[in-house]
Amino acid sequence: MNQANMDKTISDAGARGNAGSVPQRAAYIETAAITANVRALRRVASGAKLLAVLKADGYGHGIVPAARAALDGGADYLGTAVLEEAFAVREAGIEAPLFSWLSAPGAPYARAVEADIELAAYSLGQLHEIADAGNLVSAAPRIHLKIDTGMWRGGATIADWPELCAAARELEVAGRIKVVGIWSHLACADEPGHASVAAQLAVFESALSIARSLGLEPELRHIANSAATLGNPEAHYDMVRPGIAIYGVNPLPQEARETCPRLRPAMTLAAAVVQTKRAPAGAGISYGHTESTSKETTLAVVPLGYADGVFRSASSVGPVQVGEGRYRVLGRVCMDQFVVDVGDDDVVAGDQVLLFGPGDSKEPHVEAWAAAAGTIPYEVLTGVGSRVQRIYL
Ligand SMILES: *Cc1c(COP(=O)(O)O)cnc(C)c1O
Repeated sequence: MNQANMDKTISDAGARGNAGSVPQRAAYIETAAITANVRALRRVASGAKLLAVLKADGYGHGIVPAARAALDGGADYLGTAVLEEAFAVREAGIEAPLFSWLSAPGAPYARAVEADIELAAYSLGQLHEIADAGNLVSAAPRIHLKIDTGMWRGGATIADWPELCAAARELEVAGRIKVVGIWSHLACADEPGHASVAAQLAVFESALSIARSLGLEPELRHIANSAATLGNPEAHYDMVRPGIAIYGVNPLPQEARETCPRLRPAMTLAAAVVQTKRAPAGAGISYGHTESTSKETTLAVVPLGYADGVFRSASSVGPVQVGEGRYRVLGRVCMDQFVVDVGDDDVVAGDQVLLFGPGDSKEPHVEAWAAAAGTIPYEVLTGVGSRVQRIYL
């Protein structure tokens, strides 16, 4: 979508929502951007399959629309962290291969197997629990064994790996499970050249050869998140698992992006100005009066707060765009609202305030918004709250 069309569609969506004005609070989601980003990432990953990561409500974009957009872009697999997310994908009638990787004992594995959801096994206990769930529903669960290659989060340690592989092979020979994948996750892929990346890949290679020696030949070896998909072809193996990049954010440092495709942010966060008023010099603003006006000025009240994902750490620093003007949050972000100093500019109630987006209307990129608030785009996108209406373009 070109710039002019994007602007037009955003104001049209506003007009539909609230005759002639902009919506109170909106996250505009350009699903075509997700589709195009997936298409670009598939090209980067050359021969490897692509699993589109949909956890946390599709990084705040809406899990089902994000899933459909990713499949339109050629995603081979869909992935969620927790099972509730995977069930939501299936309940929407989406039948694509689906992998879910984060479950504690007692998780609804039988329901997952019936729904044709592929599962991760990190330990012997989990492997047996999943195999037993398969028995209950007379199906062989499709399993991706996880090796912890050095992030020290989930997965079998290399010490426990041979036992896990041997047990999995035994269950596979008995026809009770199918091992479809061996996978891991990188701790520092967004720091190109970080020594831990090569170290983790070396452990991954050892784990693969141990698995092979025990008779496991899974079709999918996977370890690459967005950063490794974009920056480290050695980590692509049979499938890549980009998340943030499909939503249009490149997690690599600026200097490492030269060879990357341009990704387009899919979300624009916006709200309508509630009220404007003139304030004299010396007016203390918002809770705690942490800032005051330095001269007479116009203040605009924006109906988004920390309950909507506008971090309190954006107090006094978060950038916003209103029309042609770039301003910043003045004083503390409250639960539901914040104040902006618009100087002597012509801003009135009902005007649209843009917090971040693809930049078509000169609004900040989510990276700039996140940096101002002292966090990362992942937290900003997944933090957009449920009071913010998602409007699909
Ligand atoms: C979140 C996640 C990803 C995607 O990470 P990005 O940095 O968003 O690309 C991939 N794999 C697993 C296991 C994850 O939890």
